[in-house]
Amino acid sequence: EKKVVLITGCSSGIGLSLAVRLASDPDKTFKVYATMRNLAKKERLIECVKSLHKDTLDILQMDVTGWQSILDARERVVEKRVDILVCNAGVGLMGPLEVQSLDSMRQILEVNLFGTIQTIQAFLPGMKARGQGHILVTGSTGGLQGLPFNEVYCASKFAIEGACESLAILLQHFNIHVSLVECGPVNTDFLVNLQKAELGDTSLQQVDDLTLNLYEKYLQHCGSVFQNAAQDTEDIVKVFLEAIQSPSPAFRYFTSGDVPPLTKLKATEPGGSRYISALSKTMFSSEEQ
Ligand code: NAD
Repeated sequence: EKKVVLITGCSSGIGLSLAVRLASDPDKTFKVYATMRNLAKKERLIECVKSLHKDTLDILQMDVTGWQSILDARERVVEKRVDILVCNAGVGLMGPLEVQSLDSMRQILEVNLFGTIQTIQAFLPGMKARGQGHILVTGSTGGLQGLPFNEVYCASKFAIEGACESLAILLQHFNIHVSLVECGPVNTDFLVNLQKAELGDTSLQQVDDLTLNLYEKYLQHCGSVFQNAAQDTEDIVKVFLEAIQSPSPAFRYFTSGDVPPLTKLKATEPGGSRYISALSKTMFSSEEQ
């Protein structure tokens, strides 16, 4: 019997690659429900799985911010069960905090936090009733350590950590595993899709010069990190596979193999000052002028 997998946010990036990999498993171990908010964007996924048999992949519409949309997708799962749920949909928000509108901040939390939680809520009763299941969530370094100009994004990803850790404790009693796959920078559409304040934006005119100066440095740093150190989605998919195939999955996986050094610093110096100055130095070190 195939393992039924449902993945959110499959029109691009990590979700798309994971859907393709699982659906093309040589042993046909998985039946994949690749879901996306906007079905008009399904061509990329279809292009990648052209040669596949139809029995390993189905594409469903699902907006994680809409409860009815989630329920409709659940209804269309032919097997009437999901063994492996992958909450992957997410968006970024970047820029000086003082220019972020309440609407855009709400939108990020709607998708990243409530979207993830609502998706879990929809599939949890079924998993509990069957006494098995695996919930995987695409986590972020930004959920483990603060990053300047990403306050609300980090808040949403920190929140996910708390929600997942809390759930994992309870779900042990139901033989349901929870795993976070913690990613650093990954080559996806993330940077294109995120809401970002651009340096020329009129909204930035009210922001003080030092902040703008640091923001410019941050954007440069971010650009070079993505250029030099970003992982490919295939690397991330490997880690998801490891988690999915493990008989006793860990709660956290780090896609780069180890805990990022600065995250470690947070654990070894709980007072937090060393992390804060180390990160500031990393991001803004070219600032002495
Ligand atoms: P991406 O932008 O290519 O993919 C995100 C997907 O989520 C998109 O397909 C988008 O359409 C979808 N999505 C957005 N809002 C949605 C909604 N309301 N309902 C359903 N789907 C929605 O970027 P990605 O890098 O593949 O992002 C996947 C996950 O990885 C996100 O949760 C992101 O926060 C996380 N992540 C990414 C990086 C990175 O550097 N790319 C790093 C750490 C964590």
